[in-house]
Amino acid sequence: MSKSNIRICRYSQCNYPNKEINLDVDDYYQKNKFYYHKDCWKAKTKGEWKDEKTKQDLQTIKNLWIEHINETVVYSQLFQMLNGFLQRGVESEYLLFVLQYCIIHKYKLMYPGGFKYYVDRQEIKDAYSRTKFAKVKRSPPPQIVDNEETSPKFSVGSKSKGFSSILKK
Ligand SMILES: [Zn+2]
Repeated sequence: MSKSNIRICRYSQCNYPNKEINLDVDDYYQKNKFYYHKDCWKAKTKGEWKDEKTKQDLQTIKNLWIEHINETVVYSQLFQMLNGFLQRGVESEYLLFVLQYCIIHKYKLMYPGGFKYYVDRQEIKDAYSRTKFAKVKRSPPPQIVDNEETSPKFSVGSKSKGFSSILKK
């Protein structure tokens, strides 16, 4: 039997034998070059696909929101908003960063609906990409001091320290 009509389901929690999809008989969904069983695709888009890291980030966001933004926030509204971003392909790590950024800068934020404005804000996107870049680059040895010209006005290193010290208390 030819293997050409067999694809591997891309859903990480796929329960079908060997994750195989038989294109001739199985219901499937194709996205770009990726194939999913129809059930698997439904589960994935419903949010059951979230990995541990994402779940953890969402919990952290919830806790920070309660602690710093609004302790009476409606959870379903909060998660609906967050899930909307995840489905658009926004990383949970970025959503967490945005919330931390708003807290640090004391931006006006009360309800989940208002969060969208900050998620799309260029200033925060820029700050985030600098942080990611810094992570990849690894910080230089302490004896090397950046001169005025190369050090950004917004120092990534000290900011992220600021985040953790505020968030840990
Ligand atoms: Zn599957």
